[in-house]
Parts: sequence; C-alpha cells; structure tokens
Amino acid sequence: MSLLDLAEEESAKRGNVRVEAIYLKLGPLSGVVKEALVSAYELASEQTDFATCKLVIEDVGVVGYCPACEMDRAVESIQALVCSECGTPVSNVLQGRELQLTALELAE
Ligand SMILES: [Zn+2]
Repeated sequence: MSLLDLAEEESAKRGNVRVEAIYLKLGPLSGVVKEALVSAYELASEQTDFATCKLVIEDVGVVGYCPACEMDRAVESIQALVCSECGTPVSNVLQGRELQLTALELAE
C-alpha cells in the first residue's frame, strides 16, 4: 500500500478533507532511500488531489539495547551496530526500521 493510499483513506474517513502535509518517520534500516521515496511520491501525487500536499520526513536514528550499559543506546553507525558509548554490540535493535506514517496535516 502506498503512502497516497493511506493518506487518501485518512482523508476519506474525515469527510474528504484536503491533506496539506504527510508526516513520516523513516529509519536508516528500513531499506528505503529517502530521495527515492520523495521522488516516487512526487511522481505519484502529480496528477492527484495531493499535488500540493507536502511530504515531511523525520529521520530517526538507530537505537539498540546495550547489554554492557544495560540501557538503550544510539548505535555507532548502521554498518556497525555497536553501542556509541562503549562499543559493545547491541543485542536488540529497537528503533531504526521505521517507515511509518505519523501524522497528517489537514486543511480546516
Ligand atoms: Zn554500551
């Protein structure tokens, strides 16, 4: 299902109000490249009611659980999933795989 389908569905639920912006969370481990997502969106929305609707992408960092620190830590990089504080490999990636629609800004 594409972003536009989701946005259209939400808009329809609220009585076909115009959507002014779509807010997304995008993690580096989602496998989705931001630029590709934006250009695909622009192409898909061009001939629709969403042509003027903005796509606002929030980049989220990768966070994992560090067994040495015994807490959730940001990781060094997406190539090295280790604790940015102590260098221990994180045991569980908690955040960073998101491709999630978080909010819609609707016209009044
Ligand atoms: Zn650590």
